[in-house]
Amino acid sequence: RIVGVGSTGEEEERLNFALRPQNFAQYVGQESLIRKLRIAVEAAKSRKEPVDHVLLHGPPGLGKTTLAHVVANEVGAQVHVTNGPALTKGADLVGILTKLSFGDVLFIDEIHRLSAVVEEYLYPAMEDFRVDITIDQGAHARTMTIPIQPFTLIGATTRLGLLTGPMRGRFGISEHLDFYAPEALHEILKANARQLKTVADDKALWELARRSRGTPRVANRLLRRTRDYATVEGDGKINLESTKLALELAAIDDRGLDEQDRVFMKTMIDVYDGGPVGIEAIAATMGEERDTLEDVIEPYLLQNAFITRTRQGRRATKLAYEHLKLKWRPPKDE
Ligand code: ADP
Repeated sequence: RIVGVGSTGEEEERLNFALRPQNFAQYVGQESLIRKLRIAVEAAKSRKEPVDHVLLHGPPGLGKTTLAHVVANEVGAQVHVTNGPALTKGADLVGILTKLSFGDVLFIDEIHRLSAVVEEYLYPAMEDFRVDITIDQGAHARTMTIPIQPFTLIGATTRLGLLTGPMRGRFGISEHLDFYAPEALHEILKANARQLKTVADDKALWELARRSRGTPRVANRLLRRTRDYATVEGDGKINLESTKLALELAAIDDRGLDEQDRVFMKTMIDVYDGGPVGIEAIAATMGEERDTLEDVIEPYLLQNAFITRTRQGRRATKLAYEHLKLKWRPPKDE
């Protein structure tokens, strides 16, 4: 894998953690979502109740995990982090639920990948703060109800559509996270350069902000790459010139697209005549997971009108051809 947004190494995770905003005031962007969460937190605090369950959806790297930590900090509770595929048995979830303290945040990433069995355990926990476990089997089987401490579930998903109806219905708050504007990314980069004790001039930070794919996680990664580059090739200070060279080395183009984004569009154009083409076909040709294409690559290309999605499949737009310096061929059926 190249520089995909979804892939994170250990060192990267450590740094991301260090750069994570701790409270609402430090959290940049997503204004309308933050306003709603602030109100939910304040209301819950004054009623001495846990915050409503929250479902966050949107592409990776936009700050869903960060928000779970922020909410827990704001209510003065602990956060317990897990993810859908890690909870294979009901007992895995029950083990976590019974350890929660009042008001704690349980964060489940990739909640669309919870098994049906585990989901069944989650429903009564969310609704009535209890778990029902079955002991013994056959004729002796009986159900035991264990009360648990009132808590807040924060679920995150890149794919709202894959969540079951009953699951969606159990969240009091359900919000989409959008890609960040360059202004917000600039603010994040400025704060993080300071955190990393790196001198960076403003033009360089704007360049990074503009080319970070609307994603804080990418912005942090490019900032580190640029810092490395400036350290090795210069005096350690980040300026516009070293930034451009570092981004070129990382194969990030002027629009902030990476190698995978370009291969995706090129595959559509070269192999499938610009579409319409199904995602499965593109995935097979690229030798890439369909999920990665849908979660990581497509959203940004769609948002920026490099591709469109119709019922017949995906289509490369004129902008995609122009961006790749290819001759535009209007679709035959238009
Ligand atoms: P997700 O859970 O949506 O994949 P994360 O919460 O892990 O995304 O965010 C990745 C990193 O990006 C975080 O560790 C943090 O450093 C940074 N980040 C995300 N959102 C923000 C934000 N609103 N302000 C500042 N930094 C952010």
